[in-house]
Amino acid sequence: MRTMRSLFYLALMIITVGFTIYLSDQSVYLASAKEAQGTRSLGMFEKLNKLRPCYNRSTQPKTAVTDLHLHPQPFGGSSIPYQELMSYLDKNKVQFVLLYGIGQTLPYDSKCTYYLDCIGTNALPSIKNDFENAANYVEFPQKNTHVALSMTFSDLANPQGVVAGIKLLDAEYPGLFQWMGEVNLHKEALRGNGHEPASIEDIAQWKDFMVILQKRGIPISLHSDLGDNNNPTKNLALMREVLRLYPKNKIVWMHMGLSRELTKMNPKEHIKLMSEFLDKNPNLYLDISWTVIAEAYFDTPEKRALYVKFFNRYPTRILAGTDFVAAANKNLEIYTKEANVTGSILADLNNKAFRAIALGQNYFDLAPNLSDKFEAPKICSL
Ligand SMILES: [Zn+2]
Repeated sequence: MRTMRSLFYLALMIITVGFTIYLSDQSVYLASAKEAQGTRSLGMFEKLNKLRPCYNRSTQPKTAVTDLHLHPQPFGGSSIPYQELMSYLDKNKVQFVLLYGIGQTLPYDSKCTYYLDCIGTNALPSIKNDFENAANYVEFPQKNTHVALSMTFSDLANPQGVVAGIKLLDAEYPGLFQWMGEVNLHKEALRGNGHEPASIEDIAQWKDFMVILQKRGIPISLHSDLGDNNNPTKNLALMREVLRLYPKNKIVWMHMGLSRELTKMNPKEHIKLMSEFLDKNPNLYLDISWTVIAEAYFDTPEKRALYVKFFNRYPTRILAGTDFVAAANKNLEIYTKEANVTGSILADLNNKAFRAIALGQNYFDLAPNLSDKFEAPKICSL
């Protein structure tokens, strides 16, 4: 009899607890569905959050949740204070940011903010910004934005010091740097500032550090201009050589090889070339950041449609970002404009490509250990 009564109470308890959990689940779900209207938050991307609502493309932001190409320090002069920069991201609903150093730093006593205003002054790779980014990351943890750090000190034309640099960052900030880049393989615009493009011989000397990156699953982002308007593919051999020698490394080609010097390439030819590279190199990814690219290549309905089709064809191989350089003379309005200009084409993608590119799934799959914690929400079928 006593056993029967105990069983009865036990059953009653299970029902009560179950019902309470059900009710609280419902309220969480309703709260998050409501929250999802017109906005987005970091919680919507957390794998542990089992009640994540689907993503409604007609009411929620159409630009990228990731900024995978942000330089918090300018080439020279003062920067936007870190906390202020982080508030720009939050206000633009950018929940994931990858912070680069700057691949070309003017001397600390230079009067210039932009290297092209100081032709003749060297702008060279340096580890200073990597330390600055890490120090800010530690001092100002973010609640609404996931921040990751990239090491940008590497001089690809003089690669002897790269392994030592990685070890130094390992010693000072173990485990914090999960990416390498943006580093310059060949940057045409920098030639007047002492930039020495890496040669075919230099690329062969990258082996020691590329092995470390590969073992750690760390991607490397390369700025490598395809060419200029007179000869759009004159530097192609460099990227070919990198991909030939390091097929197992995850490599991100910044701006799809385009630049201010190459604004007039035929989009069909460019897309054909990029498609061949992607087909041949399964570990190659393309960064589509920079307002210069959006304004030169996504600017007419015809050209834009070609690139939308291209991104839809390679949904898992494209990464979104702004290439914003946080010089102190910029502000929220400029960041917002750059995020909108670079992210505008994403609104035209199909659902699969939108989830992979704009909602960050490619980033979670590519960065070491991120896919354990984050997953892009499913797109609501309307
Ligand atoms: Zn950049």
